[in-house]
Amino acid sequence: MGNLKRKDPEVYRAILEETKRENDNLELIASENFVSEEVLEAQGSVMTNKYAEGYPGARWYNGCHNVDIVEELAIERAKKLFGAEHVNVQPHSGTQANMVIYFAMLKPGDTVLSMDLACGGHLSHGHTHNFSGKLYNIVPYGVSRKTEMLDYDEIASLAKLHKPKMILAGASAYPRLLDFKAFRRIADSVGAILFVDMAHIAGLIAAGLHQNPVEYAEFVTSTTHKTMRGPRGGFVMCRKEFAKKIDQEVFPGLQGGPLMHVIAAKAVCFKEALQPEFKEYQKQVLKNSKALSSEFAKLGYRLVARGTDTHLFLLDLTSKNITGKDAATVLDRANITVNKNLIPFDTKSPFVASGVRIGSPAITTRGMKEAEMRKVARLIDRVISDPQNESNINAVRSDVKSLAKKFPLYKNLVKRMEK
Ligand SMILES: *Cc1c(COP(=O)(O)O)cnc(C)c1O
Repeated sequence: MGNLKRKDPEVYRAILEETKRENDNLELIASENFVSEEVLEAQGSVMTNKYAEGYPGARWYNGCHNVDIVEELAIERAKKLFGAEHVNVQPHSGTQANMVIYFAMLKPGDTVLSMDLACGGHLSHGHTHNFSGKLYNIVPYGVSRKTEMLDYDEIASLAKLHKPKMILAGASAYPRLLDFKAFRRIADSVGAILFVDMAHIAGLIAAGLHQNPVEYAEFVTSTTHKTMRGPRGGFVMCRKEFAKKIDQEVFPGLQGGPLMHVIAAKAVCFKEALQPEFKEYQKQVLKNSKALSSEFAKLGYRLVARGTDTHLFLLDLTSKNITGKDAATVLDRANITVNKNLIPFDTKSPFVASGVRIGSPAITTRGMKEAEMRKVARLIDRVISDPQNESNINAVRSDVKSLAKKFPLYKNLVKRMEK
């Protein structure tokens, strides 16, 4: 980064400090990960310069033969990875990918049955300030009070009662498996479209460790930056019959020029996900999530839905006399990053929340295994059990730093950047 260092030291310094922060912290935000240097290289390339409105072989601008290659590679690799008939890799984000499905298939006012945000759903599944909540009649389904898991009989009754045009499955903070086959059956019983948003669990699905929604749903959307471990972005998959409709809704419907540097990085991400190492990585993500959550259980914490089948879980901090917000803030000071999260039937506001969400993808990318998970749980517990104690927080921070040092990210990147 010699040029940036000389010409724009302010931006250079912020990037350098972020590199150090990522190295010195335990990153437990379930939606984050660390991409490979290959992904960084592709995303930092000259493909950011190119306008490529349209699709490979049918662009509105000339000079697209090189960017066509990377978009075709991204599409072919994603098709292979998920067994999809049609893929569009142009959506700039997960939310935009979702918008494509709503706009292509619904009219304003149509009824959509989707997961309640307070039970783990995503903003783009009907939040009042999101386009989805403003344009459509959202009927939320939640989890059972008793098990804190989805109750498919209840979803089926809601579907019968409200006759939704579309049923949306997928979540941002649900620790258990999703039964897409059951969702298909419910959708068929009322003639609804089934749309699955697999943003969080796409990596597990790519590795064959979770039911694949492509086999059941007309539409599947995802991000590439969560468990997929690729660049920040989205993509859409659908059956062949909807291909043209979806492509037109992405461009010119909702976007102009695609981000070709990001699409190049998506192609790299999909190639990485096709390798046997990726499957091993995802298996370790699950083992680590299990090890970390069971250590918390041993330490006396209550796990929402009694545990996890995925890369994430939720801790209910009610009995620990600390809010999710305060826990996340104090952990931050000990170099541990988590996010506050509502628990099902939370009595606190989303801004305060009774729980925290914890995910294993990022620390697994660093090479940590079950033994480290037990250490991480105890580090967190030390902070949460004594949140006012400054010297305790400082001691944990120093233990976090020495643990992080043993699992370096981006070999010598700070040194290379300082050159
Ligand atoms: C993260 C997430 C998204 C949105 O991703 P952005 O790229 O941040 O817009 C969509 N759906 C679900 C379920 C998610 O978890």
